[in-house]
Amino acid sequence: MAPRNQNKPPRNHPDKTGSAEEIEAEKMGRARAPLTAVVNNASTSNTEGTESNTIEFTKEDIEALLNEKMKKGMSALDYKKKMDQMVDLIKRLKICVRWCFNENEKLHSEVESAVKKCCDTEIEMENKNVELSDTISNMRNTISSLEEINAKEKSEKLVAIDDNMKLQQCNSSLQSDLKSANEAYRRLDMEKTIIVESLNATKDLNKELQDRLKSLKDSHSEAIKHKEMLANEVICLREELKKIMDDRDRLQGQLNAVMLEREKYIKFKYETFSKLDKLASKTEALENTCSSQKEKITLLEKKLCDEREKLEMADLSALKAREMFEEKQSIIRELQDQLADKEFQVVEGEKLRKKLHNTILELKGNIRVFCRVRPLLREDRSEMNMVVSYPTSIEMLGRGIELGQNGQKQLFTFDKVFNHDASQHDVFTEISQLVQSALDGYKVCIFAYGQTGSGKTYTMVGRPDAPELKGMIPLSLEQIFQTSQSVKDQGWNYKMQVSVLEIYNETIKDLLSNRSSGFDQTRAENSVHGKQYSIRHDKNGNTHVLDLTIVDVCSAAEISSLLQKAAQIRSMGRTQMNEQSSRSHFVVTLRICGINENTEQQVQGVLNLIDLAGSERLSRSGATGDRLKEAQAINQSLSCLSNVIFALAKKEDHVPFRDSKLTHLLQPSLEGDSKTLMFVNISPDQSSIDESLCSLRFAARVNAVKLGSQSVRPKHTHGV
Ligand code: ADP
Ligand code: MG
Repeated sequence: MAPRNQNKPPRNHPDKTGSAEEIEAEKMGRARAPLTAVVNNASTSNTEGTESNTIEFTKEDIEALLNEKMKKGMSALDYKKKMDQMVDLIKRLKICVRWCFNENEKLHSEVESAVKKCCDTEIEMENKNVELSDTISNMRNTISSLEEINAKEKSEKLVAIDDNMKLQQCNSSLQSDLKSANEAYRRLDMEKTIIVESLNATKDLNKELQDRLKSLKDSHSEAIKHKEMLANEVICLREELKKIMDDRDRLQGQLNAVMLEREKYIKFKYETFSKLDKLASKTEALENTCSSQKEKITLLEKKLCDEREKLEMADLSALKAREMFEEKQSIIRELQDQLADKEFQVVEGEKLRKKLHNTILELKGNIRVFCRVRPLLREDRSEMNMVVSYPTSIEMLGRGIELGQNGQKQLFTFDKVFNHDASQHDVFTEISQLVQSALDGYKVCIFAYGQTGSGKTYTMVGRPDAPELKGMIPLSLEQIFQTSQSVKDQGWNYKMQVSVLEIYNETIKDLLSNRSSGFDQTRAENSVHGKQYSIRHDKNGNTHVLDLTIVDVCSAAEISSLLQKAAQIRSMGRTQMNEQSSRSHFVVTLRICGINENTEQQVQGVLNLIDLAGSERLSRSGATGDRLKEAQAINQSLSCLSNVIFALAKKEDHVPFRDSKLTHLLQPSLEGDSKTLMFVNISPDQSSIDESLCSLRFAARVNAVKLGSQSVRPKHTHGV
């Protein structure tokens, strides 16, 4: 501290050889120097505060001040000098005390700031350095003790100040009372001693404090250095920590990623394990399958070997089979050739069959007669006697009929006799071949002859109310259509045309005409337009009835509807003989035209199916008036029919075909190679026996007729 010694008074070096007084004086002078300086300073400045700020005391100064003593043995004049010296000393002491006080305050403030700094340092270092905090706490303790000491000193100083004040009072009283000066001096001396002691103590304390302060400063600077070091370290550590934290964060991130990976891996591991388990089980199953398959394979290999052997065998047999197949093929070819031959033969055979069939029919007689006896009806019951019987001899079985009258039996034989049990089907079976001839290209005529009520309409038409009891007309037409369809395979194509008419009172009525609505109208028309429905025969033997409705038909169903229509229009009248007795001839004509596209054969057949009017004699029918006229016309036409047949049989030059409409219409079907079948219907009751006899006689005569080139052949006819 350079300025400290600036105000120091200059020191004179005393002569060692001087007296004690001189030395004392020298001492006084030397002691006075600083005080003088102080006084001078004080007199110049006149402010104590400024003095205390500018003047600094060293240890030696204070010691010198304290050791300064009054000169003894002074006179009264010297007292004044002494007083001045005292006053000066007191002033200097005051200044010194004030300086000490200031110094103390400075120290105190420094200590406080040091404490504060220490506290700050302590707070800063507290969490980071435990050792430093211990030191600081120690320092705190020290400071607190210092503070205590300081407080003590303060109080002592205050006491000293009080004493000083008292001294001032004494000084003033000394001026007034010289006597009390010595006492005051002594007292002051004593006080001075005390003050010196206290100053010494204060000095020691101050020294001690300074040492401590120094050491504190050192320790503080050390602590600061340490703190700085630690702060640097802390910064480094913080940086490191930050780095570490960053690393840790990064590592944490990586760790998280790794953890996720690990979780995934674990999951994957578990999945893989489960898959592995499954695969293991599958593998096991597959191994089992493999082993079983291997067994199977060995078995199959064995089988394969067997099969190969078999295959070789089969190859051999296949070769053989192929050879056989080729043989068979050649055989098939031969057979096909043979088949073609056979087919040709079949066609030829068919031709031959037709020829033979015709021959057979011719040999059987061109006009064949079938007799049919109807069963007894309810109205016949009163006359229960059956007048009809059938011979049972082998020769006559199915061909003979006996009629009993007056105990005599008359036997008649025909081509066929149907008793009352014969069904429509039984009857048709016998005529079916004849119907077939129409398809073969022949002219066929089937008619039913007999008295009214004998079953002609039943036989030819059937019962309209019972489809299962169809007569020969519908059955024949159905067969014609069925057969024409079945021979289509052989190349046959047929066209059919149908016409239905009735001959009533020698006039023709078109039963398929739309104009025909009733009997009376027809009769009127015919009477007015007599030339209508005139009959023509061309050179080929085909019959044409002018204006007659001819309908093309393709099926049996069409024909059956046409027949129903015709049946409704057919004129019928009520007679005594039969409620629905026919008074007209009912003629159904089917024209058949067949062409074989394979053989280019052509056939033209005609099938006439006729339900004749009743043949009874006039007396029995009981008819009169118009009905009589009808009956006469009927009988006329029937007798005309018989005349024609017999004329044909006798080969007469003139055959009276034109005598009646019926014979005129049937002319082509009765001459030449045509085939005619007559049903003679018989009533089995007693009352009809005469009419039955007449019918049978007529039928027998017809049965004996040979048409065409052949002559009358012997017949087994009896009676007449
Ligand atoms: P026609 O036509 O000759 O006058 P029908 O055919 O009308 O006679 O017959 C007279 C009655 O006798 C009818 O009621 C008919 O059903 C019946 N009849 C005719 N023939 C037979 C038969 N074979 N079986 C059963 N009933 C018959
Ligand atoms: Mg009838």
